[in-house]
Amino acid sequence: MLAKFAANPYKSLGRKHKEPEPQGRNNFQRDRDRIIHSSAFRRLEYKTQVFVNHEGDLFRTRLTHSLEVAQIGRAIARNLNLHEDLVEGIALAHDLGHTPFGHAGQEALNQCMKEFGGFEHNLQSLRVVDYLEQRYADFDGLNLTFELREGILKHCSLKNAKSLGDVGQRFIKKQQPSLEAQVTNLADEIAYNNHDIDDGLRSGLIKLEQLEKVRIFSTHLQIVRSLYPGLAERKLIHETIRRMINTLVVDLCTQSIANIDKEHPESVDDIRRCPPLISFSSDIKKQQDELKHFLRTELYQHYRVNRMSEKAKKIIRELFSAFINDTTLMPQEYQSKSKEENARKVSDYIAGMTDRYAIREYQRLFTVSSEW
Ligand code: MG
Repeated sequence: MLAKFAANPYKSLGRKHKEPEPQGRNNFQRDRDRIIHSSAFRRLEYKTQVFVNHEGDLFRTRLTHSLEVAQIGRAIARNLNLHEDLVEGIALAHDLGHTPFGHAGQEALNQCMKEFGGFEHNLQSLRVVDYLEQRYADFDGLNLTFELREGILKHCSLKNAKSLGDVGQRFIKKQQPSLEAQVTNLADEIAYNNHDIDDGLRSGLIKLEQLEKVRIFSTHLQIVRSLYPGLAERKLIHETIRRMINTLVVDLCTQSIANIDKEHPESVDDIRRCPPLISFSSDIKKQQDELKHFLRTELYQHYRVNRMSEKAKKIIRELFSAFINDTTLMPQEYQSKSKEENARKVSDYIAGMTDRYAIREYQRLFTVSSEW
């Protein structure tokens, strides 16, 4: 049932290190399985999405976010006859390179790494699966297929693209990745916009009245209110959000099928040469943008989120400066002789930390107590 332009695990562009074909599963399943067994994947459980992990047990973490992206992505892939295993693998791996403390952490680490080539979570996810995971006797990293690695690298600068080899090529040639990669990218957007509303309301940082001014939310809120007058707020919110997700998924599938029909691609290679084919309709895209704008101004820049972000940045900055000035403060495997390499190792060490590990490491380094 796969479309002729779907990615095909039997025609994969392959892995960096040659391996025997897997038995009883295809190459994309093997990729997905390797990701699930990696330690970076387990650490997602303790990394912030918007709210710091210990703020409450009900908020999304990077792990539950990645699972939601996989669920939405697979639903879309099945509708479009694309390869679900590849979408699932990309979804589960897409955030592996995130620092502790979400975007605040990444901003601070990027600032610290300015003279050393910067820090970008997308590139770091690729670094995790290409080098940092230490599990297999024959190679560093997870040795994933080209298609999975291409899907992880959503964007990168031309300068970085040149040093990335095969997966950097499309940025130089200005080509698109597989439709599976395009689907996962938008599934990510659908997932975080919707769960951030949910978490934002649950935290009390945003109120239902504010969201009534956001078109995509209020449309569905009105429908639910008229169908179920007097419904308790928790259910009202969930009924609204599930309808929003459904609307976005259905719109994305309908518009994407129309885009594909217009270009009639015959192969994955055609997909690479076409304009991006996975998209929302222009009206829904506009509504999504309104929602994003709302979340940016009302939630991500809420003063209580800002306070946490400032603390997070301080932790990252101070850890970085302690380690870069004296690398012997880090575990041995992160110590190195050259200055350039040092900075990257410090950055790898910090990026790999969970929120609570970073907080503890900060206390261990800077607080005088009997605890080590
Ligand atoms: Mg994400």
